Amino acid sequence: MKIGVLKETAAREKRVAAVPDTVKQYVKMGYEVLIEHNAGRDARLPDSVYEEAGARIVPSSSEIWTESDIVLKVRPPSTEEAQNAREGQIIICLFWPAQNPELIETLAAQKATVLALDAIPRISRAQAVDVLSSQAAISGYRAVIEAAQVYGRCFGAQFTAAGKSDPANVLVIGAGVAGLAAIAAARDLGAQVSAFDTREAVKEEIETLGAKALNVEFEESGEGTGGYAKVMSPEFIAAEMKLFKDLAPKTDIVITTAAIPGRRAPTLVKQEMLEAMREGSVVVDLAAETGGNCELTKADEIVEFNGVQIIGYTDLTSRMPTHASDFFSRNIAQLIGLLGKADAFKIDLEDDIFRQMIVLQDGEKMWPPPPLETP
Ligand code: NAD
Repeated sequence: MKIGVLKETAAREKRVAAVPDTVKQYVKMGYEVLIEHNAGRDARLPDSVYEEAGARIVPSSSEIWTESDIVLKVRPPSTEEAQNAREGQIIICLFWPAQNPELIETLAAQKATVLALDAIPRISRAQAVDVLSSQAAISGYRAVIEAAQVYGRCFGAQFTAAGKSDPANVLVIGAGVAGLAAIAAARDLGAQVSAFDTREAVKEEIETLGAKALNVEFEESGEGTGGYAKVMSPEFIAAEMKLFKDLAPKTDIVITTAAIPGRRAPTLVKQEMLEAMREGSVVVDLAAETGGNCELTKADEIVEFNGVQIIGYTDLTSRMPTHASDFFSRNIAQLIGLLGKADAFKIDLEDDIFRQMIVLQDGEKMWPPPPLETP
């Protein structure tokens, strides 16, 4: 069986779906691996390192589409790319089926099989294959780097012969995977960090990282089914926004990561909070792609309002392409490990992981999946 790895074509996408270490694993499992010329170039992985790992470099995407049984990608293929898919070919990538009905039709007509990496269930057994978590951790880390880059001061306290300065005050809103990574990175740089999340369970994790867990004076549980966040009442959101606004005059950096799976991100940072912040402060909005937690965020831009810079980059993982590709590829390799060696490959739809992530099976529509039974 052949695994083919495509070069990404989406704007600003620098990641690649296989790295030399995962190529070695596939070769050991009996797969032949084809890499499109320059697929890893933007992640600083030249063709030569893939060749050393046992892959064959092919000149263009057309050889990948014609020869491979399994096609690996980071982003969904474009409609034009999808027309190259062959009957029975298995495509594994981020797919966002709810947002891509046309793409589903195109690939159904080609009789392809699609496994959507974004539809992996959030169950403990699936942690090792969960690209959304590995990439969220990188986004959280990178958000701090972006903030530090535009913030005109140091994050950590400075002590010099000419005097001393206080550490920056960082507020992290939403302490899921990305938020916790942001807390850790900001603490590493020496900032004072406080964080808020609607899920009570996260408080301990926030404190373990040396940050202060904030509370609102409003009783409402933030736990949805299966440990996911739920949509909070307008009264709770109002109480939360009051807390943030009260903290605003003393907050230098705000990193927002609040999200509800499958929904638009809640608006939590309004103009009046930005008006209360000091000149030179920074907001990094990790929810920019799903509407933004800050009402002034513009996706992929830095907007300045009242001296506050609001960063809405949606390509934070591609700003760390080597590390992001490394984790992304390892998640996929774990998934291929569950699918089996080349001579025993099987998509087992009795397994919740595959039943939830399969969009098409030989052209037959399998999405949306039946609801997952949660413990
Ligand atoms: P996410 O990206 O969906 O949301 C980010 C955070 O925003 C969450 O912690 C959520 O509680 C918070 N949030 C939502 N509304 C908010 C509001 N109004 N104000 C403040 N915060 C708000 O979450 P995520 O990072 O993908 O994951 C959340 C949890 O799920 C984590 O504890 C993670 O460990 C767990 N998880 C488990 C698996 C798995 O077991 N395979 C996979 C992914 C995530």
